[in-house]
Amino acid sequence: MINIIYFKNEWAWEILDTQDPLLTIVVPCYNEEAVLDETTKELSNVMFQLIKNHKINASSTVLLVDDGSKDKTWSIIEHTAKTNPLIQGLKLSRNFGHQGALIAGLETARQYSDCVISIDADLQDDVSAIYKFIDKYHEGYDIVFGVRDKRETDTFFKRNTALFFYKLMGKMGVRLVPNHADYRLMNKRALDEFVKYQEENLFIRGIIPLLGFKTTKVYYNRMERFAGESKYPLKKMISFAMDGITSFSIAPIKLMTWIGSIIVLLGACIGIYSLFSWAFNHTISGWTSLILSIWIIGGMQLVAIGVIGEYIGKIFNETKHRPRYTIEQSTVDQILTDQYRE
Ligand code: UDP
Ligand code: MG
Repeated sequence: MINIIYFKNEWAWEILDTQDPLLTIVVPCYNEEAVLDETTKELSNVMFQLIKNHKINASSTVLLVDDGSKDKTWSIIEHTAKTNPLIQGLKLSRNFGHQGALIAGLETARQYSDCVISIDADLQDDVSAIYKFIDKYHEGYDIVFGVRDKRETDTFFKRNTALFFYKLMGKMGVRLVPNHADYRLMNKRALDEFVKYQEENLFIRGIIPLLGFKTTKVYYNRMERFAGESKYPLKKMISFAMDGITSFSIAPIKLMTWIGSIIVLLGACIGIYSLFSWAFNHTISGWTSLILSIWIIGGMQLVAIGVIGEYIGKIFNETKHRPRYTIEQSTVDQILTDQYRE
């Protein structure tokens, strides 16, 4: 079968096997107008090479998911999709967050792809690792995790908070792949299982290792953001970590019970001691310790209530069964119909 590819203002005639697996590269984008042109250029380049030399189907595309951006992201995507057949776009109705945008992209791509790679829009993850992902896919791996070799370009603060987070999660029995963000390949089999996890607050990085299957890692260098700013300020990072912990583990509640019991025991000892000192010494001392214990126990109670509240909030959210994202507009229908026409 002869396929015609239009790329970089040149037509290329290639004899391509249409039986080759169809790949979709899913890219969540939120206010990324500063990087999008470069990102689409780089990813189209990679896609072109994959189609030419790595046994990837010529109908493969890059799917840019606009996560309710307030800048020109969607108009850039729409325009690029019209001029570059390797690019497709999906527009969400509002900002659903990185994880929501990723789920939207993965679930859409699953409908017509044999394998899907997810990558951030900011070119921080080395795109040349994609060739290795595809090699591993051809070797028969179901999931390929991109793992950062070095994190020198991240700030000292970000590096260390991330390290602390992985350690904490590990201690609580949550299996995460260290230094792996959302740069990974999944084949159809893994994706079909993934979509069965219907939790509203899905922590994707925690779910994927739970799927099992044949997995491997590919190491790459993490670079500086190409342009624009990180959309993960400290506040979002903390809420992301909190979600990760409370979605996977009830260890914090157990810890609270333990701390609470120890404090009650301690309180009993102090009570007995003060009784004795009252009986034998007739002192009214202890104002300081009284005030201190009121504050400590009061504080502990508030923390415990907060932790429990966090879980009750989770239950509340899950019972609503709201959609995790809403698609407002898409250029994908086009490729779907084109493909079925073949
Ligand atoms: N992103 C998104 N929705 C959001 C925040 C971020 O789709 O609400 C995208 C963003 O465009 C980028 C990726 O998620 O492609 C990772 O975000 P960012 O690079 O800001 O995070 P960092 O690399 O600093 O952790
Ligand atoms: Mg980034």
